[in-house]
Amino acid sequence: MWKSVLAALIAAFAFAGHAAADQFPSRPITVIVPFAAGGPSDAMARILGERMKTALGQPLLIENVTGAGGSIGVGRAVHAAADGYTISFGHLGTHVANGAIYKLPYDLVADLEPVVLLPSNPMIIVSNNKVPAKSLQELLAWLKSRPSPANAGTAGAGSGSHIAGLYFENITGIKLQYVPYRGTAPAMNDLVAGQIDLMIDQTSNSINQVRAGTIRAYAITDDKRVDSAPDIPTTDEAGLPGFHMTLWSGLWVPKGTPSEIVAKLNAAAVEALNDPTVKGQFDNLGLQMPPAGQTTPEALGAWQQSEIAKWWPVLKTAHVSVE
Ligand code: ASP
Repeated sequence: MWKSVLAALIAAFAFAGHAAADQFPSRPITVIVPFAAGGPSDAMARILGERMKTALGQPLLIENVTGAGGSIGVGRAVHAAADGYTISFGHLGTHVANGAIYKLPYDLVADLEPVVLLPSNPMIIVSNNKVPAKSLQELLAWLKSRPSPANAGTAGAGSGSHIAGLYFENITGIKLQYVPYRGTAPAMNDLVAGQIDLMIDQTSNSINQVRAGTIRAYAITDDKRVDSAPDIPTTDEAGLPGFHMTLWSGLWVPKGTPSEIVAKLNAAAVEALNDPTVKGQFDNLGLQMPPAGQTTPEALGAWQQSEIAKWWPVLKTAHVSVE
């Protein structure tokens, strides 16, 4: 008797789970962007979310949960219900580097389910217009000649702009004084206003200011120029050969989210990435599409783990401090 009641209950729960997955999504989905509104992560999430809405039939609402290099926002997503209605947007910093830098109250691999790898973005070395240098060589000379380190804006310890700064210090022997913000959107306001000297920013965040002439660009940290900004030299061309860094992004959901729901979110994101309008918007911002065959949830999981294996030893030896 009890056995059959139990079997009926299990079947009922399984059915409810399937029904929930079948009907998904039946209400708006929240995407937690762990950096400030108007910044590069926010911009990518909004462009993507707008197109995923067409695929899913429900709006994707962006929530900017900022602070501590994005680790607070990721924590919020980790502790949300595993039902597909909360998505964690993040990148190399939030979903890899932060695990080596912060004592996180969650595990970046065990507590999250990968959904899709998103475009990557080369970094760009930019300064405010008061900095006297006109080329990367002149910038390096100016930085070396200063009695005290120049101020470099970042989106917090472990963010893309911070990792790029550490890499720059390592390759040039130049010290920087980091100024952490809740994202590179507020850092950009201060750069334009001349409150900070420079930034090694995501190209997508700086490119429109560079085009408008409100800040100065020195080089793109990649081995090829960005098609939509062909005047900006690469670091190889401008005098820092080998200083390459592109910041990839991705989407995750809380661990335990039904695989049918992960598959639906993945399919909607892939559809959005293949949309010519989205492609055009991303191209204009200097974003590079993930390689073909790398847009499955499994591919993001494998990529994230390989990036952890690569970056954690480097960051742990560097004793990156949390500002
Ligand atoms: N992606 C961050 C932002 O949107 C910036 C960073 O990681 O440097 O502000």
